[in-house]
Amino acid sequence: MSEKSGIVILGIFAADTAYKAKRLPYIAETLMGSGFTLGPGGKGSNQAIAAARAGGKVTFISRVGNDPFGEMAIAAYAAAGVKANVMKMEGASTGAAFIFVDEVSGDNAIIVVPGAAGLIGIEDVDANRSEIERAAIFMTQLEQPLEAAMHALSIAKKAGATTIFNPAPAHAIPDSIYGLCDFIVPNEVEAAELVGHAIETDEQARAAADILLKRGARAAIITLGARGALYHTAGHSEFVPAFSAGIAIDTTGAGDAFLGGFATATSEGRAPVEAVRYGCATAAIAVTRPGTAPAMPSRVEIEALLR
Ligand code: ATP
Repeated sequence: MSEKSGIVILGIFAADTAYKAKRLPYIAETLMGSGFTLGPGGKGSNQAIAAARAGGKVTFISRVGNDPFGEMAIAAYAAAGVKANVMKMEGASTGAAFIFVDEVSGDNAIIVVPGAAGLIGIEDVDANRSEIERAAIFMTQLEQPLEAAMHALSIAKKAGATTIFNPAPAHAIPDSIYGLCDFIVPNEVEAAELVGHAIETDEQARAAADILLKRGARAAIITLGARGALYHTAGHSEFVPAFSAGIAIDTTGAGDAFLGGFATATSEGRAPVEAVRYGCATAAIAVTRPGTAPAMPSRVEIEALLR
């Protein structure tokens, strides 16, 4: 087999539509809001754009509908240099997210409709089998059906790729998935859900990571928001602090920025702790900008923060 290279990501695109208002409307009420933004989102899609902006050679596998939001997705991949193995489907809409933002507290409430991407199945994975087998890195999450994620992870693992699994959003997963993960990368909430205990202290984070290892993952990385991330594997456990690149104004997509940077650094052969630092630097810049995909930094910016 020819030498493995590049990053293949399976996931969903969702157009993020964010509405700001003083509260949610009641049923049958029309409420005037104070702001609206529209932009590309979806965890897998954000991760693909983050990894490509960080300098990775990225292929993204997904589905969109034949509609304007689907065009938005394709344009975003062209702009970021992501190879889009994205099926345009008739009869299903492109994924979309309704994001309500409380204009006073900044709290949000979200409805995600994956649309065409919710129909991703093992046939999408099989159609991209040779690309997954050639990849140095394969990465996925849980916004598309679990069976597609598991099928792709097992093909990638069998072919000798480094596999990265982001178990997000929090979702029950079978124990058989852990052995397919070189790196399992949950945030604190997802890790707590997986192991069944809260993650508030360093000891609790280490204990959770240990459980993920015992279930079969080769290494666990738990992202800890503004505290940074824990890298934990047999024989080595290290807290990598977050970077500061200015004032954090929008932390949505911080996890996706981290994963994109981490995947790119790993694809270049950097050691895991170095790749975690790269991910932290990528996310630190992203949180100083509004939006998710549009906030992802370039390689030059990431390297400048790491110097
Ligand atoms: P989200 O769901 O909002 O996309 P997440 O909850 O999946 O994000 P976090 O654990 O909040 O992910 O953050 C991921 C990484 O981003 C952290 O490990 C850290 O390196 C970085 N990060 C998050 N918040 C900040 C911040 N305020 N300042 C600097 N870096 C941050």
